Amino acid sequence: MNLVLMGLPGAGKGTQAERIVENYDIPHISTGDMFRAAIKDGTELGLQAKSFMDKGELVPDEVTIGIVRERLSKSDCEKGFLLDGFPRTVAQAEALESILADLQRRIDFVINIDVDKSILMERLTGRRICKNCGATYHLAFNPPAKDGVCDRCGGELYQRADDNEETVQNRLDVNLAQTEPLLNFYKEKGYVRNINGQKHMEEVFSDIQELVGGLR
Ligand SMILES: [Zn+2]
Repeated sequence: MNLVLMGLPGAGKGTQAERIVENYDIPHISTGDMFRAAIKDGTELGLQAKSFMDKGELVPDEVTIGIVRERLSKSDCEKGFLLDGFPRTVAQAEALESILADLQRRIDFVINIDVDKSILMERLTGRRICKNCGATYHLAFNPPAKDGVCDRCGGELYQRADDNEETVQNRLDVNLAQTEPLLNFYKEKGYVRNINGQKHMEEVFSDIQELVGGLR
């Protein structure tokens, strides 16, 4: 089963990725992990990637794609893989098509965990942290007993700057603009399956199981 997982921040992608790789025993391949492994193994491409990262620069597509090719050629991918965070662009998606063609593989599904933007906003802006002890709460999912007050120590709760509405809105907009062309590319190929991410995470996972259940 060869899967690509997509979803905006707050859609619950991380949780579902964990469940998928655990349940189907396929490797979870994220760009960060791939870079770290290539650098640790000291491969030619790993060293190239490192030289860009050390300078604080983006790793160019050709290097990233080379690392993906190496990773997907490893024996633990024989049963399949779950790609997460790659591809990010249409150019990378096209490169992935050609890598997979070389390996005589193809993508089975691009699983898109779909959640309304208003709900993502609620999920992503609801976090509150205790100034005193650092305990974290969520206004919707794990609210304190008393508004604005820490259950544990009585300290004052605050919202991190990263979690404020404007920052979150901006992060979502950037992500949307980035993923839209990619989703369209995959829709044209017929790979995309939308999964309703607004349900409870257990139900989301059972919907994914239903989708991929027929795959080898
Ligand atoms: Zn506290």
